[in-house]
Amino acid sequence: QKAEWAKLATKKTMTQDHHHIELAANIGTPKDLEGVLQNGAEGIGLYRTEFLYMDRSELPSEEEQFAAYKEVVERMEGKPVVIRTLDIGGDKELSYLNLPEELNPFLGFRAIRLCLEREDIFRTQLRALLRASVFGNLKVMFPMIATLEELRAAKHLLEDEKARLTSEGIDTSDEMEVGIMVEIPSTAVAAEQFAQEVDFFSIGTNDLIQYTLAADRMNERVAYLYQPYHPAVLRLVQMVAEAAHKHGKWVGMCGEMAGDETAIPLLLGLGLDELSMSATSILPARSQLASIKRSEAVPLALEALRKGIAEEVKQLVQAKYGQAT
Ligand code: PEP
Ligand code: MG
Repeated sequence: QKAEWAKLATKKTMTQDHHHIELAANIGTPKDLEGVLQNGAEGIGLYRTEFLYMDRSELPSEEEQFAAYKEVVERMEGKPVVIRTLDIGGDKELSYLNLPEELNPFLGFRAIRLCLEREDIFRTQLRALLRASVFGNLKVMFPMIATLEELRAAKHLLEDEKARLTSEGIDTSDEMEVGIMVEIPSTAVAAEQFAQEVDFFSIGTNDLIQYTLAADRMNERVAYLYQPYHPAVLRLVQMVAEAAHKHGKWVGMCGEMAGDETAIPLLLGLGLDELSMSATSILPARSQLASIKRSEAVPLALEALRKGIAEEVKQLVQAKYGQAT
């Protein structure tokens, strides 16, 4: 099996009925690139930039960030690289920011909420991203977007820094796409409105599932409620995909679910254009997709949406494609 996967490393991902779906990798630092290149990723679907800010005593400088982003886009040689702006808070802490403790950190001051208040931190990151944008195919993604106001405010700061760089004589790309993560149910439900103001969506199921079922992703006692195959979760994915396509935008997924063997036929059927996963899942997923027809995955997904419970969805997929290994 390993030898068969290795042969796929240089291939595009194609379903049995010749539909392309992009398989990208999630990374945390430029050090992860070696595995990404070895496993034949068609791009980076999620670069979690928080690691640049963690395990140190002060914020990373613009130069330091620029160097990291530039290295990643250059080594990906024109393949798409989605870089997510700082997503701190929740389970990820930065002691040097001295943020007060919260009763519900996952519902609190995190990610874009913090960045829009700490403009100094956010603008520095946006400048580094804009400067790196001329060295490859860089796309910016904002995490934890709940409202259109947040999206507009973030885009405004990006435009503002772009104009400043231009006035300083520094080049930035005019082609850089700007997208959002869909990890809050409000954003999935209102995807139609968001679709008109973004270039792409990437569904972050790690958070989307916890918020949809109100089950803390870190809490073992409620882990039984953390259900990727819950029909409500699938319905949200469908809403996002349909809204995106209606407006000519692409939609990906970068939560753990994107690399899950049982979920993949459903995600293909729901119309996702890109799946981003840990590098080691890419070749198995490419091999799996080569044996699946999209024309069969679409009705399968529609049938899954009509099921009452997650277990029935799982059984439906496994009855058709076999038990996950
Ligand atoms: C997600 O929420 O699905 C996601 C990819 O982001 P993170 O796991 O970093 O919260
Ligand atoms: Mg998340």
